[in-house]
Amino acid sequence: MRMHQQVLTIYSYDFEARLESMTSNDKVAVAFGKVAARTIRILGAGLGSNLPGRVARKLAPDVLSHLAGQSKKGVIAVTGTNGKSTTSGLLSSVLKTAGFTLIHNRQGANLVTGITATLVDAASWDGHINTDYCLFEIDEAALPLVAKETTLSVVVVTNLFRDQLDRFGELDTTAKLIEKGITTCKSPAILNADDPNVCQLVPENTRLFFGLDAAFCEVDSQKLQDESNPDCSQSMELSYCLKCGSEIVYDCFFYGQLGHWRCSSCSYKRPDPTIVATHIQLHAANSRFKLTDKRQNLSVEVKLPIPGLFNVYNALAAAACAVKLGVTLESIKQGLQNYSTLFGRSEKISLLGKPVLIQLIKNPAGASQTVKAVVEDSTARVLIAINDNLADGRDISWLWDADFEPLKAVKGTVIVSGLRADDMAVRMKYAGVEPERIICVPKLERALRQALNDTSPDETLWVLPTYTCLLELQKIVKTMGQSLAGT
Ligand SMILES: [Zn+2]
Repeated sequence: MRMHQQVLTIYSYDFEARLESMTSNDKVAVAFGKVAARTIRILGAGLGSNLPGRVARKLAPDVLSHLAGQSKKGVIAVTGTNGKSTTSGLLSSVLKTAGFTLIHNRQGANLVTGITATLVDAASWDGHINTDYCLFEIDEAALPLVAKETTLSVVVVTNLFRDQLDRFGELDTTAKLIEKGITTCKSPAILNADDPNVCQLVPENTRLFFGLDAAFCEVDSQKLQDESNPDCSQSMELSYCLKCGSEIVYDCFFYGQLGHWRCSSCSYKRPDPTIVATHIQLHAANSRFKLTDKRQNLSVEVKLPIPGLFNVYNALAAAACAVKLGVTLESIKQGLQNYSTLFGRSEKISLLGKPVLIQLIKNPAGASQTVKAVVEDSTARVLIAINDNLADGRDISWLWDADFEPLKAVKGTVIVSGLRADDMAVRMKYAGVEPERIICVPKLERALRQALNDTSPDETLWVLPTYTCLLELQKIVKTMGQSLAGT
């Protein structure tokens, strides 16, 4: 106990010190960073989401620490392979609804330079920050670097899927980076109980778990066995027990490696989550579920304005973090319902009078879940755009690990586009879509116009782009007189 108090004292001392610690160097750095950001915007050379941070850090290496340290209630980090942006977006909506002010890197620039740029942008010209919270989605590899520069009050880990293998090599490496980030500040961790890769993190820290109820699992297991997906093990990612190395097995299974898991040989198993979703109903454009805080024995009914089981997980992660910060369930419910979508994440717009839903895809687990959401929508039309630029990941073999098979049930054409349109066309053929329905249009603008042509006003065009296709889409949408969120 005394030890604990000592740690707290050190932290609050640190905090006070930082509040008064803006050096003249920092102030110059902030001013130069702000000028850089404005110049970039005036020149129309992008959003200026990284360069101003780089400039400021060059002039004052401690600028992130000194800026973030001024937040009154602390710094919240959201990390994990999938769902960082949506989870932090949902959490932002919840905290604002609860009456807090916050600084949030909502453009998704989630490396150290992007986070610094966000702070520089939010600071006054003389380097003052006036906010309750800083809320940052942070790239897994950048987490330890940010944790070294500022105290993370709480860290949310959404999940750990196989993702962007060319960058990190192995899942283990990513887990170690996240672990390092969390232990650096002894941050409390908000963890996904259904993900065996995430549950095993930071056993020494304060942890709060969230997860899905088994009742939903039974429904899902039946779905898994239905004809559209005869081999459910195909989409299951293998995981291994941290304690003994044996294979993880499932009493029920949702997707990826998420489910009610246990070790096949030792007693290690899924922890009982405190924040739980039950009575889940998935619809074409939204979902409903009952959110329960088991510790307080309280529940609320939530209507989430975005579709897909993966977004129920994102909402749970945000809710669990908010509970940890002392927000009431009623505010959490309101905040989740108030959510308006982020750039390319289940984003709904209207183009040429047709409803369009844009969902970024980047790895097998996310893509499979998106496909599931598409086929839930009986009015869905589909355009898939695949690039293999550096930011997308050069290796597109993941297309073969994702479950595109259900798309054969979608009516009309399936348009494939992007630098790897041909590969995607082959993938669609193997998924069982009749060749005459697969239309290959590598140029994205042409593909989009054709897809809109094929979509009637009472249908929804689902656009599934990889990251750089999404950036291209953003420009095309602008020429059509619309804009995507945050741009
Ligand atoms: Zn074991």
